Amino acid sequence: MLGREYVNKVISEVEKRNNGEREFLDAVKEVLSSLVPVFDKHPEYISEGILERLVEPERQIFFRVPWIDDNGNVQVNRGFRVQFNSAIGPYKGGLRFHPSVNQSIIKFLGFEQIFKNSLTGLPIGGGKGGSDFDPKGKSDREVMRFCQSFMAELCKHIGLDTDVPAGDIGVGAREIGYMYGYYKKIRNANDQGVLTGKGLSYGGSLTRKEATGYGLVYFTEEMLNDNSLSFKDKTVLISGSGNVAIYACEKATELGAKVVALSDSNGYVYDENGINLDLIKEIKEVKRGRIKEYLEKVPTAKFVEGCRNIWKEKCDIALPCATQGEIDLEAAKILIKNGVKVVSEGANMPTNLDAIEELQRAGVLFGPAKAANAGGVACSALEMSQNSMRLSWTFEEVDEKLKYIMINIYKNSKKAAEEYGNPGNILMGANIAGFTKVADAMMSQGII
Ligand code: NDP
Repeated sequence: MLGREYVNKVISEVEKRNNGEREFLDAVKEVLSSLVPVFDKHPEYISEGILERLVEPERQIFFRVPWIDDNGNVQVNRGFRVQFNSAIGPYKGGLRFHPSVNQSIIKFLGFEQIFKNSLTGLPIGGGKGGSDFDPKGKSDREVMRFCQSFMAELCKHIGLDTDVPAGDIGVGAREIGYMYGYYKKIRNANDQGVLTGKGLSYGGSLTRKEATGYGLVYFTEEMLNDNSLSFKDKTVLISGSGNVAIYACEKATELGAKVVALSDSNGYVYDENGINLDLIKEIKEVKRGRIKEYLEKVPTAKFVEGCRNIWKEKCDIALPCATQGEIDLEAAKILIKNGVKVVSEGANMPTNLDAIEELQRAGVLFGPAKAANAGGVACSALEMSQNSMRLSWTFEEVDEKLKYIMINIYKNSKKAAEEYGNPGNILMGANIAGFTKVADAMMSQGII
């Protein structure tokens, strides 16, 4: 059976079996379509049913999360953990707390995580989890009670060598702290490596907070340099103003770029003089406020309602760092018309499939999420290593390892794209490089 025929057959089975799970189906189609040349070259993967097994999570856990709000009312949320693939190491992937969370979103994130984790070169499998709980507007005590109830169930399924969750949207140091504290109490074990993204005083790693944003910029700078470009003097748009966006902004600015806009789910701020990041950190990291508060201190900036409009501003480099589905075909066309040279993904699947094709057709350099935003999970794996050794590396040591990993991810993705006949297609190269390592491990371990 030829590669194309095999891939189409598996995609149609996945569609039947996971009816209506739009995000998961998009992620599967995006990855599988680029693997066609791999199956043409390695038919042995077909006879071992690698794809049929890869698209089915090894285990999925859904659970009730009851908690009591500040008014004494009982609230119930839904908890998820999808343990997708452990061929190359323990399941690893973040927890997302956001009202939009459902089975399809967690499965798409878990599926992508398999290849992302493989690309880091570190021994970590793919998983993801979360809840439809919305931390926005909740008191610290409410967040704590929710996190404790969530961990009361999750702790039965995770472990140092089994499954190691981390943060994602809505899960930062505060939530990880509450969850780790409760895990430790229930299990009576100081298993620091069971969660990553911890505070520095109890097993966290320096650079973890910055890792996804910095890593995105290291990856993108390597891609730019490879095309005789750089961040220096470029105008940059970054969507989001959370963990990834803030540290992408910091590193891009350090490399000489001017970041002119950041957003949140209400809208975006545009500052033609370059965003004042200290002010953004104060609003978002300290006050947990809204981005339009930026104008209270910088009245010359503008605020535009509606986060999707950010792509209408002129830029050289666009770094979507908020959430999935941010750049649709229309936004891609506007970016191209305004002369964008690079789109590199900090968020997971922020660019729709038709938008990616449009950008690639127009010759825009495209950095796919699973490669470009792998710095966070790579640094999480470095946190696990430090926890196992009971040692802490300096900021510089971790940052250097992170940079080395991101540059290698770019090089390996580029090499795979060339080897499989599509030079310059980093999306395809990343999928292939991530996939082959996992597939080889699955081949060695038998049909399980
Ligand atoms: P945060 O929760 O810290 O920040 C998310 C940002 O995106 C906020 O500014 C938020 O605005 C905005 N946002 C969230 N949902 C929407 C939406 N539906 N529409 C518009 N804006 C939205 O999350 P992170 O920065 O950690 O994560 C951002 C992205 O990066 C996600 O796709 C995540 O999966 C990905 N990622 C994160 C990693 C990490 O280490 N943190 C690692 C790899 C990928 P508001 O405050 O208004 O909600």
